[in-house]
Amino acid sequence: MVRKKDLLIVLGVLLVAAAFIGASFLFGERNASLMQTGAEQVVRIYVGSDLYATVPLGEPQEIRVEQENGCVNVVAVTEDGAYMKSSSCDNQLCVQQGMVTLENWQLRMLGRQIICLPNQVVVEIASQTQSVPQGDQPDV
Ligand SMILES: [Zn+2]
Repeated sequence: MVRKKDLLIVLGVLLVAAAFIGASFLFGERNASLMQTGAEQVVRIYVGSDLYATVPLGEPQEIRVEQENGCVNVVAVTEDGAYMKSSSCDNQLCVQQGMVTLENWQLRMLGRQIICLPNQVVVEIASQTQSVPQGDQPDV
C-alpha cells in the first residue's frame, strides 16, 4: 500500500527535479544565444564573385552597393541579422527574401544568403573564423 505521506514526498522530489530541469533549460538557452551573437559573426556582401564588404553582425547600419552598370542595392544590417532594404532590380525578389538571422537561417530556403540574381549581389551571414579561405592569404 502507498501511504499518502509517501506520495507527497514523491511529488516533492518530482517538483524539485522539474525546477532544476527548467532552470538549466532556461540558462542553457541564454548561453546559446549569447554564443550565437558573438563578435565573430559577420555579414558579407558579394558583387559577382568579389567580396564587396564585410561588416560585423549586430552593428546596425546600411551598406549601399553601387555598381558601374547602374545597379544599386541597399543592404541593412540589424542587431541580429541582415536584409535587402532596397534594390534597383526588376523582380525585387531579394527584397522579398526578407531578413536572415542567426536564428532563422536554417529554416530559410536560401539558408544564410540573400541573393539578388539580376544585380549579382549576394548577402550572407557567416562566422569570421569559419570561412576565411586559407588559399587566399598572401604567403609572406
Ligand atoms: Zn534583386
